[in-house]
Amino acid sequence: MVGRFQIKEAAMNCVICKTGQISAGNAIVTLQRGETTLVIKNVPADVCDNCGEYYLSEKMAERVLELGESAVKKGVEVEVMRWAA
Ligand SMILES: [Zn+2]
Repeated sequence: MVGRFQIKEAAMNCVICKTGQISAGNAIVTLQRGETTLVIKNVPADVCDNCGEYYLSEKMAERVLELGESAVKKGVEVEVMRWAA
């Protein structure tokens, strides 16, 4: 399948730096597909305290992807938004 957003799933240990501790925090999530770039601030996520990599829960990833899909449908080029719980 072409053009799917890729979101990393939650993990206990940081898979990027291997040494980081992951704890609850907020992330800035950037989605890109074709001509659409969507930046979502303040997304609840597990964040690595070492390298800053973030991990979204499955539920959060779904909601983030929904926002991404609707941005694509609207023909958004660049949009910055804040997560609304
Ligand atoms: Zn890390």
